[in-house]
Amino acid sequence: MIFESWLQQLSQFNLLTLFIFFLAENAILLFLSIMLGKIIEYENTTLDKKDRKWIFSTLICNTLITLLGYELYYFGIMKVNFTPSLLSIVSDTLLLIFIMDFFMFCFHYLVHKLKWFYPIHQLHHTHVETSVYSLLVLHPIETFGFGIIWLFSITIFQFNFISIIIYLVLNLLYGIFGHLKTDIFPDFWYKSRLTNWISTTKFHSDHHKNESHNFGFYFTIWDKIFKTTI
Ligand SMILES: [Zn+2]
Ligand SMILES: [Zn+2]
Repeated sequence: MIFESWLQQLSQFNLLTLFIFFLAENAILLFLSIMLGKIIEYENTTLDKKDRKWIFSTLICNTLITLLGYELYYFGIMKVNFTPSLLSIVSDTLLLIFIMDFFMFCFHYLVHKLKWFYPIHQLHHTHVETSVYSLLVLHPIETFGFGIIWLFSITIFQFNFISIIIYLVLNLLYGIFGHLKTDIFPDFWYKSRLTNWISTTKFHSDHHKNESHNFGFYFTIWDKIFKTTI
């Protein structure tokens, strides 16, 4: 498997080289995210000077989380399936999205409800009107919190590499879409029973305007179950 041998080749490099490699990977993803924001809503995609240091620290934290994930794989603590069937790709992807959404809902709910934790999350809520940059304005403790949930989930449940990649792409896209000012979801999305359980730009945007509601990320179901939806 090409991806597996490519990952194994990384083992010849020392920690600093790996850090630089993963830093470049995360920087490219950050750049592409901002470019997507610029393409969708050029006027709204402006960087406030005071956010620069937080965006940089989020980049460093994400790089360290990627490096930690690689080390967990290298030492055999995290197992990855490199020869998945089509069925396991579909089931793993759905399970991964479902599990991560539930864990992140719980984490997000707790950071709002625990008095000692809220000041950390408050940084993200300095953006009442959001843009793609808001996604990156996170306190390092919060970024590591999400990173630990992520690494814990893929270590415990052992997914295949295609589902992990699909999830990471969807997660990034949803993070971007959730923080745009422009609602990219069509009207029918809110009305149809087939789609109204899937989160939208408006759903997370409403959370930035009303912090006691809409804690979910990909689905609206947890907020409906726990009666925290607007
Ligand atoms: Zn947000
Ligand atoms: Zn929040």
